[in-house]
Order: sequence, then C-alpha cells, then structure tokens
Amino acid sequence: MAMPALKTFRGSTLSQALAQVRQDLGKDAVIVKTRSYRAGAVMGVGGKPVVEIIASAGASTTAPRSTEAKSRTRMRTALAGIYDDVPQRRRAVEVPVPAAGAADAPAMASAPGVHRSRLTAFPVDPAPIDSAANESLRDEIGSIKRMVGQLLRCSSQGIRQETPSHDRPSGAAILDVGGMPEPLFAQYTRLLDAGVETSLSETLIATVLEQLAAAQLSEAKHVRAAILEQLASQIPCLPIAPRTDGPKPLVIALIGPTGVGKTTTIAKLAAEHALRARLRVALITADRYRIGAVDQLQAYAEIIGVPMQIAGTPDEMARAVDRVRQCDLVLIDTAGRSPKDNQRVDELRAVVDAASADHRLLVLSAAASEAAMRRVAGRFAALRPSGLVLTKLDEAAHMGSLVNLPRAAHLPISHITTGQDVPDFIEPARPDRLAGIVLDGEVAA
Ligand code: GDP
Repeated sequence: MAMPALKTFRGSTLSQALAQVRQDLGKDAVIVKTRSYRAGAVMGVGGKPVVEIIASAGASTTAPRSTEAKSRTRMRTALAGIYDDVPQRRRAVEVPVPAAGAADAPAMASAPGVHRSRLTAFPVDPAPIDSAANESLRDEIGSIKRMVGQLLRCSSQGIRQETPSHDRPSGAAILDVGGMPEPLFAQYTRLLDAGVETSLSETLIATVLEQLAAAQLSEAKHVRAAILEQLASQIPCLPIAPRTDGPKPLVIALIGPTGVGKTTTIAKLAAEHALRARLRVALITADRYRIGAVDQLQAYAEIIGVPMQIAGTPDEMARAVDRVRQCDLVLIDTAGRSPKDNQRVDELRAVVDAASADHRLLVLSAAASEAAMRRVAGRFAALRPSGLVLTKLDEAAHMGSLVNLPRAAHLPISHITTGQDVPDFIEPARPDRLAGIVLDGEVAA
C-alpha cells in the first residue's frame, strides 16, 4: 500500500499550525512529527517562533467536495470559538464566503487580502445550526481534539508515529483530549502555545478536571481561574525586602552573561529603593572587563544620587561592602562574560563570595530561546545562584519559560523586567501575576 504523502505546516503558534493541518488535510489528518524553532534567530536570540507540524492525510478523506468545503468553513468558525485567543479579524475571515459556490470558499477565505474589504462586515455567524450541522460540528471539534492528542503523544514521548495505548511508557499520562470540556481544552492549547512543558500542562489540566464540578467545567471563567491558581502554585517566587532595622545591609549580587540587562536592572532596583522607598542604597561593580561598564553604572549612580565603588578582587570587594555597612541595600554588578573559562569562573566566584551576598541572582534574558536560557543557567550553576531575574519579557516570544525555567533550575524568580526604561519596567515576582502572563502570552499592565 502506498504511503500517504507527508506535508509540512508552519505557524507562529500551535493553534495556527494545527488549524492549517485541519484545513488542508481534513479531519482524519495524522500528525507525524512536530518541532518548534525560531526563524532568523542569531545564536538563539531574536527571530520569530515557528511551530512546524508534519502530517499526512488520514484514512477517510472521501467527503464530497461541497460538503467538505462547507464543513471546513464551519470548522474554521468553530476553531475561532475554541481558541478564544484568535483575534477577531481572523474570526471574520473564517465565516462562510457567499461567493462563486461552496467549493471555492476555502481557497477564497484563506487567500490573504482577497476579501479584506468584507472582513469587518462578516462577524462570526451566530445563526442557529440545524441538528445535522450540529452533529457534524461536534464531529469536527472531536477531530481537532484528536489531533491535539496526537501532538501531545509526539511531543511528550518523542516518537515519530502514533503509538497504540498499550505501547505507551508507563507514567506518560495522556489526557482524554476528545472528552475534555471545551473551556478546559481552550486553556490546554493556551498552555501549549505558551510553551509550558507538555507534562506540566497535562498535570495542570488533570488537576483542574478533578477539582471542578461539571457545571464549573463548562464555564470559561471558572476554568481560567482554576488553571491560573494551579499554574501559580508551580511558579516559585523569591520575595526580597531590604533590611531597614538590621545591623547589616541586604546585599544582592547580580550574575549572568553580558547583555542580559544586569546593569539596567541594578539601576532600576537602586532607583526604586533610593528614590521611591527612600532607603540608603550603595552600588558596587566588579565588572572591570567590559569597556564602559564602570561608566554606565557610575552614570546611573550619579543620576540616582547613590555612591558607587569598583571592586575587582576579593579583598577590594570585602572592603567595599564593609565601607557601606550603614546602608539598607547594597547592589553588586558583576563581570558579564560567559564563564566557559574555568579561571574566570573561579575569579568571579571568589569576588562574589567575598561580598557575602544574601542573594546571588542569575539574570537571564527571556528574549533568548528557552534552550539558550537553560544552557546559561547550567553554566552559571558553579556560582551557586539563589534566585532568578528574568529580563526583557517585553521581547519574549513565549512566556512558558516563566514556569519551566525556575522548575528546571530549581531557582525561584525574584523579579521580572519588561522594558528598557529606568526606573520603570521592573516588578517583584508574584506567582499569580506570572501565571497570568504565561496564560495570556503577554505582559499587560
Ligand atoms: P548587562 O551587560 O547584563 O549589564 O546588560 P545591560 O544592562 O547593559 O543591558 C543590555 C541591553 O538590554 C540594554 O540595551 C538595555 O537597555 C536592554 N534591556 C535591559 N533590560 C531590558 C528589558 O527589560 N527589556 C528590554 N527590551 N531591554 C532591556
């Protein structure tokens, strides 16, 4: 028997790629492989996220053309309902196009710009659907869920083909996607689109499924609240409060590669505590390597009106910290170079050790890929960080790293930063706020 042809589909989110598979290959499409990567990224930084799905047409693709065309059109409308993050303008594209016959509708609807002038004139059609159409719609939604189930099997088990249930490795909990209530399914795809690890997404969904009564499971707001609560419980955060009454200042050292935003974050923290909270703040930089690093911190120190010292050796660091022992908060900037070179790691560790810092915060840029962030966290583990600062969330393609990274690195998040401007765009990490960012896929005010 001839092998069914494989086709490749790409979208910027899982939902988009999946919708293309469904549209092109019909409801029996079989998902063979998935991967995600960043197109145009330079060393894991920048670029656009791409989700790629390789799929083949399934066994039964014999629906008469006109029925299929109608059902595809309805399916797209249904999709817009399932994925409630689909922008309104896309919903408008996906209504039936009353043009030259139903068979032409899918091609016309998917051709960008062809019906642009009519888009806003066609809201999602709320017209009552007769029972046969209803049946077919349910069937279509079931097939989308089946495809998501296949995707999960591909990604969670790293397999290339659908595996019969008795062959699944034990412990690989595959959810019954087909039987999942719609609001829960919508949150499920959101978690996957955010890049939250599949196994964690499954656990969250299974917990909420067990937790909520049937009536609550059919209400989007209850389901969202329950998912947010579960997600928040998975995001460890590190509250940091400067001492105002103790004998010693709170000492915080920021470590991490060059360019992630350490100096900017120190300036934000200094401004927040010195200007807004009126605390006594001092800055120290151990970064003697980077041209301009001292000048940059010095400039911030002058603007904010706090003292700044340079300490390149352990002795200098110990003395520098001692000199500002009357302060409430001491912030230390370190050399940003990647510690591949063991000697440099030892040097940096000795300097950081000499500061006797209460917190060593590893600063990672969320604009990088999660794989790159994990690599950096691994390299800096030798400096024994106690927490994470995730910067540049405003440039992040996926927010899933807010939950994946602290779990993988066993480090709580102390702060997030969401923009370049000092003193704004920094927030102490709060589990509920971070859970909202993950689920919504953006940093809303
Ligand atoms: P360092 O080498 O780790 O000290 O990094 P810098 O503090 O010098 O920052 C490197 C670049 O990242 C600068 O252009 C900053 O303005 C920028 N940056 C820092 N924090 C953020 C942020 O939260 N969002 C964005 N978009 N850029 C940031």
